[in-house]
Formats: sequence, structure tokens, C-alpha cells
Amino acid sequence: MSENNKANENNAKNEETEREKEPEIEESSEESKKETTKAKFTFKCTRCDACCLSRGPIPITFYDLEMWAKNGVIANFLPYLDIYNKPDGSIDLILKPLPPKPKEGDESKGAPFNPVPIEELLEEKCPLYNKEKKECLVYENRPLSCRTYPLEFDGKNFTIVDVECPGLNEEGMTIEELKEMRDTAKRMFYELTRMRITLPVLNQLITQKVMMDLMRQNFEAMSKMSDEDRAKLDEIFKKNQESPED
Ligand code: SF4
Ligand code: SF4
Repeated sequence: MSENNKANENNAKNEETEREKEPEIEESSEESKKETTKAKFTFKCTRCDACCLSRGPIPITFYDLEMWAKNGVIANFLPYLDIYNKPDGSIDLILKPLPPKPKEGDESKGAPFNPVPIEELLEEKCPLYNKEKKECLVYENRPLSCRTYPLEFDGKNFTIVDVECPGLNEEGMTIEELKEMRDTAKRMFYELTRMRITLPVLNQLITQKVMMDLMRQNFEAMSKMSDEDRAKLDEIFKKNQESPED
């Protein structure tokens, strides 16, 4: 066998091994999360915006923050960002969905000091979706999570997180577009992991700093108090200790 033939055979073997390593895409739905079906993936977003109307909290990564900072738009996003302490103990930085209009007599719900818990907003619309114009207000700067939807990567497999998405099975996806979408899903997984490792540490440091600043401010305020005011404050503390509220 010539050297060229040997090289061609080796290349073919390598390509085959690479193909074997390619992760399969799996479909999943709420009803059949355990049931997975291997599927040939074709997708073309129809811009129906169904996902923007019911996405719930959208995870934000350092990639998004860097993109917004570079494009000079980060301040526009700040009012919509929130920290979500998830039931599993992890913390996500999210785009917080807008609460629905409060019912009559319940107007205080949703006010700054009485926010609607995130758990009640899991099916609500993205705050950056304009319902009247039927468009994303930040399409050029949309988060990574929106760029890869409905495809997700978990470090091993690709998963379709919304089998109802009308863009699934739409013809016309090129190999380059498929590769780009898979790369974006992988980047999302990497960036989300990075965020989930870093955020609890930052959260703790910031909370600690805020507590220390508050204690220092209280201490300074007390040291500036007159003896008379301090005596009054002591009196209040004593009363509270004698009859603590249940
Ligand atoms: S990703 Fe799917 S649900 Fe979202 S706008 Fe595109 S086609 Fe519609
Ligand atoms: S940021 Fe834009 S694309 Fe993403 S969910 Fe919101 S409206 Fe839709």
C-alpha cells in the first residue's frame, strides 16, 4: 500500500472516530423527561416569539455582561437583572420576568418592597419582549441563552428543551448553522457553569461587605448621639427585651 493510500485510510479512520464522538441530540418534554428519542436535528427560528412569551427566568452569563459592556448597553439591562436563589441551592443571575397585572385589591404585590417571588413567574414573559410590536427590544444584544434556544448542552449530550418550538424540523439549516448552534449551546453550558461557581462567592463577599458597612454606619450614628437620645434608645431596647413579639 502506498504512503498516500495509508494516509487516506488513517484520515478516514480518524473521521469515523470523530463522528462516533459527536454527541447525539435528544428530545425531551415535561411529560417524558426520562424518555429520550434520538433525532436528526434541523431548526430554523420562525420568529414566532412563543418562547419570549413564556420563558420564565433567563440565565445571564459573564459572556452576556461582557457583550453588553463592550456594546455600551449594560445600563439598559440593569433594571431587569435579579439574583435567583434556586430551590436546589444554586444561584443564577437572571433576566427577571415581568409579573402579570395585579388583581383588584392586591395592588401592593409587585411593588419594590413587595416583589412577586420568582417562583410565581416561571411561565411569564421576558421583560424585554414588546407585546404590542411583537418584537425583542434587544435582539442584537439578546443573551446567549436566547441564541441557543431550544437547544441545550449538559456537558455530554445535546437536549431539546422545548419540543413545541415551531422552528424544530424546519428545513433549510446549513451545516455551518448547525455547527454554530451546537457551539453556542456548548458555550452556554461552559459560561453557565462559570457563573454558577463564581456567583455564590461574589454574593457572599458582597453581603458581608454590605453588613459591615451597615454596622459601621450604625456605630458611627450611635457615637454621635446625645446622652439623652442614647438613654431613650436604651429604654426602647429594654422594653423590647421584656416583651418580645411572638
Ligand atoms: S426559538 Fe422557537 S419558539 Fe422561539 S421564536 Fe424561534 S421558533 Fe419561536
Ligand atoms: S431577550 Fe429577546 S429573544 Fe430573549 S427571551 Fe427576551 S425578548 Fe426573547
